[in-house]
Amino acid sequence: MSSAVWDTLVIGGGPAGSASAAFLAKAGQKVLILEKQSFPRFHIGESLLPFGNDVLQDLGVWDKIQQAGFMPKLGAEFVMGNSAGSHSFWFRKTLPPPHAQTFQVERSKFDHILFDHAREAGAHAPPESSLEDIHFDHDMVNFSYRHQDQTHQATARWCIDASGRTSVVGRTLNLTKCDLGMPKKIAVFSHFKGVHRNEGEAMGHITIVRIPQGWFWLIPLDETKTSVGLVQMLKSFKSTGLTPQESFTQTVNQNHELVFRMQKAQRLTDFHTEADYTFRHRQAAGPRWLLAGDSAGFIDPIFSSGVMVALRSAQLAAQAILKAGKSGGPIPQAQRTIYTNAFKSMTNVFRDMIRMFYSNKAFEVFMNPNPWLQIPGAVTHMVAGNTVFTWSVFWRVRVFFALCLLQRYLRVAPRLSFSHSSPSRQPALSF
Ligand SMILES: Cc1cc2nc3c(=O)[nH]c(=O)nc-3n(C[C@H](O)[C@H](O)[C@H](O)COP(=O)(O)OP(=O)(O)OC[C@H]3O[C@@H](n4cnc5c(N)ncnc54)[C@H](O)[C@@H]3O)c2cc1C
Repeated sequence: MSSAVWDTLVIGGGPAGSASAAFLAKAGQKVLILEKQSFPRFHIGESLLPFGNDVLQDLGVWDKIQQAGFMPKLGAEFVMGNSAGSHSFWFRKTLPPPHAQTFQVERSKFDHILFDHAREAGAHAPPESSLEDIHFDHDMVNFSYRHQDQTHQATARWCIDASGRTSVVGRTLNLTKCDLGMPKKIAVFSHFKGVHRNEGEAMGHITIVRIPQGWFWLIPLDETKTSVGLVQMLKSFKSTGLTPQESFTQTVNQNHELVFRMQKAQRLTDFHTEADYTFRHRQAAGPRWLLAGDSAGFIDPIFSSGVMVALRSAQLAAQAILKAGKSGGPIPQAQRTIYTNAFKSMTNVFRDMIRMFYSNKAFEVFMNPNPWLQIPGAVTHMVAGNTVFTWSVFWRVRVFFALCLLQRYLRVAPRLSFSHSSPSRQPALSF
């Protein structure tokens, strides 16, 4: 048993934890970062957004990311499962060079780079250390953690909970979650080789295949490896009585576009599943703590927002602590409200896009954005992860959502067929 005093305890060494720890350590704080797993470790969340690049630049880790050999991502492609329509967004058509591209990343490698970067910045990160217990009083954060079969007691002045969806502090303090009014979903995914690739610069695009009960992602990770996942409503998945793997295979076989892309695919890893992941805490900050990344909330993977939100909220959380740090006292109420509202407004942009995506009528507008008034450019901003709009983007975004609503009553965009295409391929593909 040993005892130590830290400025900030960071729980979790994912993107939110490593980024916030690095920002604080660079600013001269004594930071302890606890990560229970050892790197490299598998994690889902492989497609980055260009508007997360800024934080990686601010962290000073952008050059390392650029040199790591990740697949460049220049845009996103949306395709109907029955091959009845497609639309591609190219970031550079609308956005300036810093946001014209980003990367598809294998998270085992990406998270490892960020974690090592936090260490190099001066954060203390004892490997495989798991937070066991935490409580807050007016002046301090008291906690214990397990490292090398020993329990260590320590204190810190502040805590950033970046423990992902386990949200250690959220659970400890029994924080209230908002009702986001979204149905529960389940994702099943694996890595494959032999998946069809787009040609030329579109090779690194994320491909989203829209099917009647949900969607597939295809994320090219390197020359050969592609991450492929199916997301569907938990309720309809349960009603089939299939296993996640059977459901994945059956759904591929029901959709012409997926059969085309997966006909030579061979699975490289076991299937993983994640279910019921949508939530957001009502409050993201308290006197001695802030929730960053998934620990504060996660809505849906469709627009690949997770890592970007993790990085941005980590930066804002670190800034809030540094402001409070001048006095050594608790994070002032005004600062907590600003942080909570910033997290909400960032995720609200994605919430609106996610609702749009799951509505067939609105999705028809998304797939055929009217060139009128440069609406497609504003939509590209959202697809690239911009959550802080200039006025010229803001009003176009509002017009886009108004058109999505209008599509329910008028034919603003061409109608799309959402039915399965029942390809007649024999024998059926199996994974
Ligand atoms: C199906 C699916 C697909 C997704 N696809 C994408 C995508 O394409 N792009 C994207 O940007 N996002 C995607 N996401 C979201 C993405 O996975 C997360 O938003 C992102 O990983 C959040 O980062 P984080 O740092 O907040 O949490 P995490 O990355 O989850 O990191 C939390 C860390 O905390 C550690 N930890 C937890 N408890 C403790 C403890 N008690 N002690 C010590 N350590 C602890 C964990 O081991 C973990 O390493 C997807 C999510 C799902 C469910």
